[in-house]
Amino acid sequence: MKTKAAIVYKFNEPVIVEEIEVRTPRDSELMIKIAASGICHSDYSVMNGTIPHDLPEVLGHEGAGTVVEIGPNTEGYQVGDRVMLPFVSSCGTCSRCRSGHPTLCEVHFSGKRGKLIDGTFRFHKGDQDIYQFSRIGTLSEYTVVHTNSVVPLPDGYTFENAALLGCGVTTGVSAVTRTAQVPAGSIVAVIGCGGVGLNVIQGARLAGASKIIAVDQITSKLDQAKQFGATDFVNSKDVDAVEEVKNLTNGNGVQFAFEAIGLPVTIEMAYNMLGVGGNAVIIGITGFRDTITLPAVFLPIWEKKITGSFFGSCLPSEDMPYLLGLYKQKKLMLDELVSKYYELEEINQAFSDMEEGENIRGMVLFEKDAN
Ligand SMILES: [Zn+2]
Ligand SMILES: [Zn+2]
Repeated sequence: MKTKAAIVYKFNEPVIVEEIEVRTPRDSELMIKIAASGICHSDYSVMNGTIPHDLPEVLGHEGAGTVVEIGPNTEGYQVGDRVMLPFVSSCGTCSRCRSGHPTLCEVHFSGKRGKLIDGTFRFHKGDQDIYQFSRIGTLSEYTVVHTNSVVPLPDGYTFENAALLGCGVTTGVSAVTRTAQVPAGSIVAVIGCGGVGLNVIQGARLAGASKIIAVDQITSKLDQAKQFGATDFVNSKDVDAVEEVKNLTNGNGVQFAFEAIGLPVTIEMAYNMLGVGGNAVIIGITGFRDTITLPAVFLPIWEKKITGSFFGSCLPSEDMPYLLGLYKQKKLMLDELVSKYYELEEINQAFSDMEEGENIRGMVLFEKDAN
């Protein structure tokens, strides 16, 4: 059948929105009618080649929608089920999943990521095979995904809220609660107050951090950080952020510094603002050849730590519904994250708005629901 999708054919050229073919689900696969998809900075990074992907590729890696067709061996799913699509699928049975690293699932990272797990394609245009971002490709009216890529959407939540959990929200909040396990009363710094950083900030607020220092170069982002729970603000364009963070902490430094940008200089900044026993948690994805330089002596003599966090080290099937529950309890802010709605055809405009720093999150709503 046909689906309208946002596709990158060539790096640094406008994304094409057009009708392509989506094929019927095979073993352990579901066809999903997408209702909502977030537009993430990583989609933009595919378009401009910062994140190396095979092309052509359907963009979109956080979404929610309804099951409209089921393949063989999809017990537990039926047509009409409402689901969320996280950007990492966790099989639950490989050694990485079982050893507490479900976001690094061996099955998900096996073979070519833009294909289905069985190594074949569901999107086509004529004879051309088309990849799907993170094996989901949510910036499309319809997509076919493996059941590993699906988390049931509990009743009482909108597709729009659910879509946000597929990447940005869970990456930020779970970096605090899962990866770092920040104890109540901690002093935390967050470097980068974009879509992920704001969610680190609200994760730190949920964890009961006593001081949350937001670091960014853009004043409007620091204002948003306040809304999400930051208590102190450092504009790193104006001051030396490491010195300023030390000033704000009686010279001690912070217990946790989260880096949510993906630049060597800000990773080094995170490490350098730590106090004794501090943990620098790195969320941002750098270029593949980037390296960092750190004063090594403080690893032993201050027992500093540096920790990577991918998709918040979360367990999607547990954390995504859990986070929706926190939203219902009015503890987690979701509505405030969506700055602007776009038609699928406006994807290139959404990218330029993102580059201007205008949006926390842009969202494509294919279908509105009444929940
Ligand atoms: Zn993303
Ligand atoms: Zn696995």
